Amino acid sequence: MDAKHIVVIGAGVIGATVALALQRDGHRVTIVEPSTPGGIQAASHGNGAFLSPASIIPMSIPGLWKKVPGYLLDPTGALTIRWRHLLRLSPWLMRFLLSGWTPARVGKTAAALAALLAGAQARHRALAEGIGRPELIVQKGLIYAFADKTAFENDSASWALRRRFGVRMQELDGTELHALLPDLSQAYQFAILLTDGAHCTNPGGYVAALVAAAVAQGADMHRARATGFSLRNGRLIAVETDAGALACDGAVIASGARSKALARAAGDRISLESERGYYVEIADPAVRPAIPVMPQDGKMANVLTETGLRASGQVELASADAAPDWRRADILLGHLKRAWPALDRPETDAKVSRWQGNRPSTPDGRPVICVASGCRQIIHAFGHGHIGLASAPMTAEIVADLIADRPPAIDIAPFAATRF
Ligand SMILES: Cc1cc2nc3c(=O)[nH]c(=O)nc-3n(C[C@H](O)[C@H](O)[C@H](O)COP(=O)(O)OP(=O)(O)OC[C@H]3O[C@@H](n4cnc5c(N)ncnc54)[C@H](O)[C@@H]3O)c2cc1C
Repeated sequence: MDAKHIVVIGAGVIGATVALALQRDGHRVTIVEPSTPGGIQAASHGNGAFLSPASIIPMSIPGLWKKVPGYLLDPTGALTIRWRHLLRLSPWLMRFLLSGWTPARVGKTAAALAALLAGAQARHRALAEGIGRPELIVQKGLIYAFADKTAFENDSASWALRRRFGVRMQELDGTELHALLPDLSQAYQFAILLTDGAHCTNPGGYVAALVAAAVAQGADMHRARATGFSLRNGRLIAVETDAGALACDGAVIASGARSKALARAAGDRISLESERGYYVEIADPAVRPAIPVMPQDGKMANVLTETGLRASGQVELASADAAPDWRRADILLGHLKRAWPALDRPETDAKVSRWQGNRPSTPDGRPVICVASGCRQIIHAFGHGHIGLASAPMTAEIVADLIADRPPAIDIAPFAATRF
């Protein structure tokens, strides 16, 4: 295969894993990123750190439309829509509701995401070991905690679908749950343990380490913002940036929630919005859960990272540039204190840090991974919504395959840019 010079736009977890996959194929790589790789500007910094085989169900499921008025009226719910942004978001919202209108549509997305997430834990372990940082990926399982079995059964369709796609799960009663997590509130009396689940102990640090490894292997880091592409006779000749043009043979758009304009410049109109999320993280926490937990009432990932106990979650539909609404982080903190009663003391508050970030989200919950319609040398790799951390290594392998003109290991038709 011919070695090429490929410009990777964006140094979140997608850009970082893509850069390493391209280097494995012998390509020369330049990473364009205006900020710190894995820094606070990136969704990859503040995610819930879950590498969950269960993350195959999209946000939009049948009957969701009935809840939309509630999402508009309740600014404290797990999903909220900011009124001021409603008009601009309407086309995306309409597609969002339609994409989950029938069980068949949800099943189609679940099948696509199951393929994208297959083997994600092993792929991440191999990546972390490959850069000499095996401690960044831990496979001890993941727990989804419910008030009781009835609460679990209320969501039985989603869990049945997961089972259908081979997600291995073990039911835990209250005693078994609290044997694994003694500090968890007694309000949770039933759980699902995903034995294949894993987590990352420092999502932002992981991205920084992956990018550092790529640079150590010869990648160039170009501190700039990509602004467009120069083509000659339909062939890419350069990526334009606010610090000059970069001549290249190919480019990968991996700029997360900011990818829409670049994708348009490459010939594709993508329905992409920010599903904004938040975290609170308590440094030196009074409880140290051995296995990450997703308490189902708060819909938030509770995970012990290298920097503290993190609760990450919430979905707020608004523009990526809107100011954070820190009340949403405080909602997470309230949930966290209820889930772990030992945290509910005044000294906790002094140790809390807060973050807001932008999930790059398509309406159907599937990323865009394909060759751009306007230029064969530009590859789309964005729109990973809730699963970008987990699905990054497989995405990177697909991108490397597309650049090498090899057939990817999985069917990528569900990730086409032309589906919108
Ligand atoms: C609260 C929350 C919880 C989550 N939990 C999980 C989870 O538990 N598991 C999971 O798998 N996923 C989770 N996700 C989703 C996951 O974090 C994202 O899907 C993933 O990080 C997206 O990675 P990315 O590289 O595409 O984008 P980003 O991480 O946002 O990185 C994009 C990068 O591109 C750069 N950039 C932007 N514009 C340009 C430009 N014009 N030129 C050059 N560079 C540019 C940015 O500065 C940024 O560094 C969560 C997300 C959130 C917000």
